[in-house]
Amino acid sequence: MELWYTEKQTPDLGITCLITETLCHFKTPFQDLAVIDTVQFGRMLVLDGMVQTTEKDEFVYHEMISHIAMQSHPNPQHVLVIGGGDGGAIREMLKYDTVETATLVEIDEAVVEMSKKYLPTISAGLADPRVTVLVEDGIEHVRQSVGKYDVILVDSTEPVGPAIGLFAEEFYTNIYRALKKDGIFVAQTESPFFNSDLIRNAYARVGRVFPLAKLYLASIPTYPSGLWSFTVGSKCYDPEECKEKKVQTKYYNHQIHRGAFCLPNFVGELLEEEK
Ligand code: SAM
Repeated sequence: MELWYTEKQTPDLGITCLITETLCHFKTPFQDLAVIDTVQFGRMLVLDGMVQTTEKDEFVYHEMISHIAMQSHPNPQHVLVIGGGDGGAIREMLKYDTVETATLVEIDEAVVEMSKKYLPTISAGLADPRVTVLVEDGIEHVRQSVGKYDVILVDSTEPVGPAIGLFAEEFYTNIYRALKKDGIFVAQTESPFFNSDLIRNAYARVGRVFPLAKLYLASIPTYPSGLWSFTVGSKCYDPEECKEKKVQTKYYNHQIHRGAFCLPNFVGELLEEEK
């Protein structure tokens, strides 16, 4: 008998994959967690029925959330990831020798543990001696940090449950304070096709807090609509300006860095409406 997994990406649309094995499935104190093996995308981390990452396409998301900020900042030494318990974003940031400390703040310990167990290619970086994993709320961590980080990534789930506050203006204000005077941050901000209000609001909020706010895009097959947005807030470096540091990647390169900021008209218009 065939077993299929469907994520209802909107009330009217889904993505469906043939499953070869369910590796784990249980409720954590924060969410429903599953790791399934699929024919098309390999192993897949699913939280509350939503695909978070898969072995086959994770490189696009993790490279694109990380390298834009890491290449715009000339000397990132102390970096922070909020969420991202699978370890993929941390793995990418550790590719830079300038990084002395990398802190991961994940609210749900089970995400870290199951990723270490079932997604070793994604979570491998978590064993690096530069990494500290803190199991706590990223909102509180940022509230209590001042002038500490060069780069902060917000690798969050959709704005439901504990992640709601990760899209609030107060959170962006605290991120600004947690960054050093030339710090830069990036947040994943969902699909321009299905989440236009979220993108408009996040861009407006980041723009009120940071002198530089920009949006860029990448294509990620397993995320709703396949087109994904990232919002950057920077204190001084223009995120479009790539410092052209050498890095081993499968998707990101210096041309893609610049091209990612070229927005289709319907996305550009979303941001214009906010100005
Ligand atoms: N790449 C993914 C995406 O766009 O779907 C996100 C992956 S990552 C697994 C998201 C993580 O954010 C989850 O493991 C979740 O537990 C964590 N998270 C949600 N709210 C959080 C909070 N307030 N503080 C820290 N981590 C949080």
